[in-house]
Amino acid sequence: MDYKLKKNGAMSEGKATLEGKAVSKVLMICTGGTIGMLHKGNDPTKPLYPADWNGIQEHFSSLKGLPFRVQAAEMPLIDSSDMSPDYWIGIARNIRDEYDNYDGFVILHGTDTMTYTATALSFLLENLTKPVLITGSQLPLAQPRSDAAQNLVTALTIAASYNVPTVPEVCILFNNVLLRGNRSRKVSSSGFAGFDSLNYRPLAEIGEHIKIDANLLRDVKTDVFFINETLNKNVMILDIFPGIKAEILRHVFEFKGLRGVVLRTYGAGNAPTDKELLEEIRVAVQEKKIVVVNITQCLQGMVEMGLYTASAELSRIGVISGVDMTPEAALVKMMFLLGQYADNIKIVKEQMQKNLRGEQSVNVFNFIYDKNSTEKGFCRLSTEQVAAGFVKEKIVKANIRFIDLKCRPNSEKSCNPSAAVFMNYPSADVNTAWNIPQCLGTIELNDSDENVLECTQNVGRVIDPGRPVQLTVVSRNGDISWENMVFSIYTDV
Ligand code: ASP
Repeated sequence: MDYKLKKNGAMSEGKATLEGKAVSKVLMICTGGTIGMLHKGNDPTKPLYPADWNGIQEHFSSLKGLPFRVQAAEMPLIDSSDMSPDYWIGIARNIRDEYDNYDGFVILHGTDTMTYTATALSFLLENLTKPVLITGSQLPLAQPRSDAAQNLVTALTIAASYNVPTVPEVCILFNNVLLRGNRSRKVSSSGFAGFDSLNYRPLAEIGEHIKIDANLLRDVKTDVFFINETLNKNVMILDIFPGIKAEILRHVFEFKGLRGVVLRTYGAGNAPTDKELLEEIRVAVQEKKIVVVNITQCLQGMVEMGLYTASAELSRIGVISGVDMTPEAALVKMMFLLGQYADNIKIVKEQMQKNLRGEQSVNVFNFIYDKNSTEKGFCRLSTEQVAAGFVKEKIVKANIRFIDLKCRPNSEKSCNPSAAVFMNYPSADVNTAWNIPQCLGTIELNDSDENVLECTQNVGRVIDPGRPVQLTVVSRNGDISWENMVFSIYTDV
């Protein structure tokens, strides 16, 4: 397909503002979707098809009275069910080619895959400083009760930054709701309130006035704008469900070339504890080097691996957390990172758990230790893994999860059921502040395989990127040992 931009007629004039300010220019790119569709032969009983935008434009007289200039253009007009990664790259290239000529961009798009496109553009457009607004409608512009005109005019107004602060992001504007694109989901197949973003507040209050909440916007980038043009399509989304067969997973993971899987699990990231099933996932992650990211099937909330035994094993075998990403965000981010870093799975996994474009609420840094790295109850963690992006001051919490934590009593009596966890930097100089062990909290030893300590205290004080830290678990009357330990640090974005 040829994704070249075709401009439709001249740019609308745009009424000069009273203040005599320069009139901004918006490029409006139609890609198809219901907004520009007509019924075949104008017969409402016939299916809708994406009509030529020139024919549609006459239904949109409001364009002429707008206080900014609009250039209409189109790409191949499709039902967005036919959207593809190549098309996304086509949109990104067109925006790049016209970037300096316009103050903002509006993309008219079908609602079905709008959230995927919004997410993809958020990753493809690097160092974006101008608004890119995606909108569409549930009813075609040409129909009397259509929601199209309202969506379109509001999107154009925000893209023109007309009487509102500039929104330097890829957003979805629908039914007077402005959402961060990579946080949004299509929530209704026919309601005018078609989109929502349950893990991130709308970026504006829109009524008679448009009030953008500047605190929710991403920081304006100072680096030069460019686009990324590589996406790896060897990915898939897989839903866990009661009764899912290990064999099915095996077949999926055996697909030649598969590089990434978004695993949609229950609640806070839980999956069946069935051994066969987990073994298939382990083989995929550890032997086939497939990146498996865990996100929730819930509409709201985040994955917290280790909160339940049902998710602890996933994390132990190397499944990574997708935190509170939407399925679209997790999938497209994976395509993007596999495209960028190709075979460097380590970087893909690290980046996957970090917030890159406002698509997730916290960063996760995971350290996994097996028994070979423990020595007499001590555990050395190398914080070298903590790559750029780790800001100690932004630590919000940490989870330390011990698997098979055992206490061997040093007398006939049983062990004290609680053990304290300390961290420090081992150094020759015992008097340095860093060397003084900081108590992170206490763990109540229980009979389960898992003992989780969630700590919000002292972690920030102890962690220092690049330095090995020591972790000690102390019980008053026994020796503590564990098989594995997963240490997850969450930082604010
Ligand atoms: N099938 C249409 C599309 O996504 C639905 C819509 O636009 O609302 O292109």
